[in-house]
Amino acid sequence: MSDFIPQMIPWFGDEETDAVTSYMRSGGWITEFKQTEAFERAIAAYTGSRHCIVTNNGTISLTLAAVAAGIGAGDEVIVPNYTQIATPNSVLMIGAIPVFVDVEPNTLCLDIDLVRRAITPKTRAISLVAANGRYPDAGIAAFEALAAEHGLILIEDSAQALGCFYPDGRHIGTVGAIGSFSFSVPKIISTGQGGCLVTNDDELARKLRKLKDFGRSGGGNDIHDSIGWNFKFTDVQAAIGIEQMKKLDARVALKKQMWFAYRDGLAGIDGISLFEQHVEHGPPWFIDTLAERREELIQHLKAGGIGSRVMYPPINAQEAYAFPGSYPVSERVGREGLWLPSSAQLSAVEIDRVCNAIRAFYRA
Ligand SMILES: *Cc1c(COP(=O)(O)O)cnc(C)c1O
Repeated sequence: MSDFIPQMIPWFGDEETDAVTSYMRSGGWITEFKQTEAFERAIAAYTGSRHCIVTNNGTISLTLAAVAAGIGAGDEVIVPNYTQIATPNSVLMIGAIPVFVDVEPNTLCLDIDLVRRAITPKTRAISLVAANGRYPDAGIAAFEALAAEHGLILIEDSAQALGCFYPDGRHIGTVGAIGSFSFSVPKIISTGQGGCLVTNDDELARKLRKLKDFGRSGGGNDIHDSIGWNFKFTDVQAAIGIEQMKKLDARVALKKQMWFAYRDGLAGIDGISLFEQHVEHGPPWFIDTLAERREELIQHLKAGGIGSRVMYPPINAQEAYAFPGSYPVSERVGREGLWLPSSAQLSAVEIDRVCNAIRAFYRA
């Protein structure tokens, strides 16, 4: 059997090793400082946002976004029923109430008609997740208008969308009041753990910086005029992140090529379908598919030395949430959704191998 193809492997090189070594030799204190500031500047420049605030992960960044936006206990936040569990958990953490809405079948992003119907007098925010780097078919302008009409805060959970833009040229995550990204291991660039927030609002940026640093009223002091916690980053991670940012454009190009290679390789196979991807505006994070006889396919791929990963189950069916209701799109993903190998460093030969294995499965 040839080498195993994992569903995802992170990608670090000599540049990250050298950056960490030279940082350590420089006598830095490891906690966030100059490297972190440089990492924040790189992300702000790339996304075209005024401010970037790095945090310890992309879950806490969402919680901080909600707190900074004035959301608190009892407030309702509309979230998709298909997303990484952090989206709802991050608002539950502060006693706010996630209200689940199903997603569009093509994009797996929030369905705007269902969002509109879910708005109540208690709704304070919409958490729009750019599922796999996609934007909703309804268009971002429709979400901006809906939020404005009802006085709601638009938070963009863009954890899967670094390198992805809206058709009008704005980077995903920079349209809402606050956008959130993650640098966890499977994301397009990684610092092991890590997250960040982007905003063009000076006041929100100031609040976010205080919230992640104990609510300090000034740099390094112990005078607190507001509540805050410690969700800071480290300069070791930032040294890695700076090198990863330099590789982002190349990875974006590779992930776009990967999507086209899968599209061609899976063409004409009955039983599996790719989601449409806005490849002209950004790369897919993962290769997401709907696959008939999914569990059998997973076993077939595994036997052929190929990893895959079941897509997020619908949140209403997760034991931690378990609530009634009908969510046909996310429930279908729960039955058939499968992520194929999606590392940026995947070769054309490996993608062929995956597609041939899938073709053989559905022919049999
Ligand atoms: C990865 C991810 C998160 C969580 O980020 P962490 O850094 O792992 O905490 C949140 N939302 C979405 C959509 C994600 O994909």
